[in-house]
Amino acid sequence: MTTTETGVIVDNDTTPAAWTRTEGAERATDLFRRTWDAAPDGVWASPGRVNIIGEHTDYNGGLCLPIALPHCTYVALRRREDDVVRIVSAFDQSVVDWEGTVEQIVPRALKGWPTYTAGVAWGLADAGLRPTGFDAALVSCVPLGAGLSSSAAVECAMVLALDEVNGFGLGGDDEGRAKLVDIAVHVENDMAGAPTGGMDQAASLRTTEGHALLLDCLDGSTRQVPFDLADAGLELLVIDTRAKHALVDGQYAARRESCEQAATMLGVDTLRQFDDLGWALANLPDDTMVARVRHVVTEIARVQEFVALVDEGRILEVGPLMDASHDSLRDDYEVSCVELDTAVDAARAAGALGARMTGGGFGGCAIALVREADADAVRAAVRQAFAGRGFTEPIVHVVTPAAPGARVS
Ligand code: ADP
Ligand code: MG
Repeated sequence: MTTTETGVIVDNDTTPAAWTRTEGAERATDLFRRTWDAAPDGVWASPGRVNIIGEHTDYNGGLCLPIALPHCTYVALRRREDDVVRIVSAFDQSVVDWEGTVEQIVPRALKGWPTYTAGVAWGLADAGLRPTGFDAALVSCVPLGAGLSSSAAVECAMVLALDEVNGFGLGGDDEGRAKLVDIAVHVENDMAGAPTGGMDQAASLRTTEGHALLLDCLDGSTRQVPFDLADAGLELLVIDTRAKHALVDGQYAARRESCEQAATMLGVDTLRQFDDLGWALANLPDDTMVARVRHVVTEIARVQEFVALVDEGRILEVGPLMDASHDSLRDDYEVSCVELDTAVDAARAAGALGARMTGGGFGGCAIALVREADADAVRAAVRQAFAGRGFTEPIVHVVTPAAPGARVS
């Protein structure tokens, strides 16, 4: 058993425990008090997410099915009467700080982590909701850069806090939260420069405990899908390969651009509105573009089939859809990597019902749906496969659908 710098307890044989919300609130309040010798107005938490199926579909107007993780980012925040913004954040093994004014927070003026934190003040102002200055202290137990969306967790915790202390009143219902999601996505795209779709922020703010969120990215509509794994005797393993994952790098943007180009050539606004793969084959300029479109179109169909099975109480039969999703991401979309493939292959061989990479790809996490009785064997098999190939030891989390972002103290 070891404790990392960020306080995440790693029991090498089981699961790194996420902080409870009470513990997270205390840690954020402590950092706030130590920094400014004062009490915050409150503490807000928002979770990271893991996507069950529907990958690289959000920016194509498609369907996805994320759950909120028990791992959250916490912000202790105090409203100021002036325009000054002071932020401290304990992450990536150190405490960093930023100071400026709301006025100064505009695209390209900031770099790195302040774009995801201070940047939210700009996102709100750009939507006509200009916040006052504030002091904020952040802590997080969402694994960083692991494809579990620590970025959305941080944006969503900030946007909930600033919404409430400024009395904008959007955090109280789903309609308001949908607007906060749009603001957080705008921050991620146009302040942080990461061209992600809307899944991560919707998962952080619009999920319900015990449910997966069926998100329709064409119109923003949602459905809460009961996702009771224990009831079915199942566990969901999130296998953090610890391989590098950088969404802002060119690959993600290139995939998105390729989809947008294909949609234009096919005469549709988004690939969601297209399902004639034979026609794509005949009308797109090269095999690569056909493969990209094939992934998106078949992946959207897999989400529909997955949810239909869950609705019918046939969750034990979803595994082949997860496997097909991975194979499509590996072969057609080409966003997997050797560590993800190793995790998925080892999990399947050790009896997982289904396994796939999750998130943007090129590293980060894979998920495996396993019978409770097989969980230890799957975990051991993945660890052994990684050791055999000389990879860094993976971290395996066992997760259930957690609660969405909320005020916690
Ligand atoms: P992930 O898959 O974790 O979302 P990203 O590369 O999208 O990976 O986002 C990680 C970035 O988000 C970090 O490099 C940092 O800039 C920002 N970030 C995440 N958590 C925090 C935090 N607690 N405090 C400040 N910035 C954070
Ligand atoms: Mg991210």
